Amino acid sequence: MNSTNTKDLEFWDKEYVWHPFTQMRDYQQSKPLIIEKGQGSYLFDIEGNKYLDGYASLWVNVHGHNVPELNDALINQVNKLSHSTLLGSANVPSILLAKKLAEITPGDLCKVFYSDTGSASVEIALKIAYQYWKNIDPIKYKNRNTFISLDDAYHGDTIGSVSVGGMDLYHRIFKPLLFKRVSLPTPYVYRMTEFDRTEDVRDFCLQRLENLLQEKSDEIAGIIIEPLVQGAAGIITHPQDFLKGVELLCRKYNVLLICDEVAVGFGRTGTMFACEQEGVIPDILCCGKGITGGYMPLAATITSKKIFDAFLGEKNEHKTFYHGHTYTGNQLSCSVALRNIQLIEETKLLEKVQVNALFVHEQLKALHRLSIVGDIRQRGLMVGIEIVKDKKTKAVFSLEENKLDNIVQTARKKGLIIRQLDQVLTFIPILAMDQDDLRKAIDIIYQSISENM
Ligand SMILES: *Cc1c(COP(=O)(O)O)cnc(C)c1O
Repeated sequence: MNSTNTKDLEFWDKEYVWHPFTQMRDYQQSKPLIIEKGQGSYLFDIEGNKYLDGYASLWVNVHGHNVPELNDALINQVNKLSHSTLLGSANVPSILLAKKLAEITPGDLCKVFYSDTGSASVEIALKIAYQYWKNIDPIKYKNRNTFISLDDAYHGDTIGSVSVGGMDLYHRIFKPLLFKRVSLPTPYVYRMTEFDRTEDVRDFCLQRLENLLQEKSDEIAGIIIEPLVQGAAGIITHPQDFLKGVELLCRKYNVLLICDEVAVGFGRTGTMFACEQEGVIPDILCCGKGITGGYMPLAATITSKKIFDAFLGEKNEHKTFYHGHTYTGNQLSCSVALRNIQLIEETKLLEKVQVNALFVHEQLKALHRLSIVGDIRQRGLMVGIEIVKDKKTKAVFSLEENKLDNIVQTARKKGLIIRQLDQVLTFIPILAMDQDDLRKAIDIIYQSISENM
């Protein structure tokens, strides 16, 4: 690109594009990062600068950018057909992908409902869970009209998924539009200093859940939870067996368990799905993000046969699930997703993620020396570094101090793209990133924090 083009693009970006989660006044005063190409673990901007992709292009990228196998899957499909509808007809890639998803998801999860964003997959899960009870017995279950979710939960940005979300910063303004939910304390070990041990945090939260269920399980359609790690809340890693405890309580009190694996699915925490690590089988599993390896928008809501069967009946019983999106089951998305999953298997990527997660864990230890690093949390290749003003009091920097912005900007100048979530620096590398690049990224993170202390 020549420099006039660069200037034009920068101008038009500010003139015409409204960026998500972005204060556009600040944005208009900054120099936009305009990405043009990708190769492996690297992104390139229109001026030819090269960056390590340390946020996996918003947690979606699995095998790297510009992967020949995934490109071929798309090209082959484009040459056949790009889209036809799943309303009243089927298509080959969506069938093959659904079969594959049924095989790789735990337990008896086997019915795949497609959509195109994680938020929609959650929206669908909530509607299915709600309708499930009405379909089974509308009188007995007439009050099962709400959901339990965690205090700092993030399940997406549509109104239903925001209703079960707990992130005040994003959701406060929309409160009057939301349906009621029942909230459960997040087992945020680092900030729950009143407890001595991680297990005590877990048991406290589980006890609260049990109390809630004893009191009002007849009002609860289901519990929705991000398994093992709450991503957007700041990579809050749950204590061991917290998820298992939640599952046992769901079974004991007969409410549905929805696992939102949008962030953690497809190998992010070292297993194909995070819930596998505690032997948990949800009634409904939501996935998105990594499902296409970062190539195309696609999401899926996968249910057990028991859930699905509750929707069977005569037409006039109206047990049908009246929901669908225009691009549901899109051929391009499904074909690249299928190839992505095959490639995870062929390259033994999950084993590699487990090995590299240990490597990253070792490399990150050096960061504890930095006076503003309060906590380092990691599950698989999902890392959160909580930045504090004071390690003892755990006080955080104010927004005006721009501490995390500055660290992120410094890292970018050094050739690494990472992002912050509030007071937490996140490092979510491309899953297939090799150890040299992982080490390079962590060195840059170290230097960028220390230059901004
Ligand atoms: C990203 C995310 C979502 C929302 O997915 P979108 O594709 O952005 O709509 C939902 N749940 C979790 C846990 C996520 O991380």
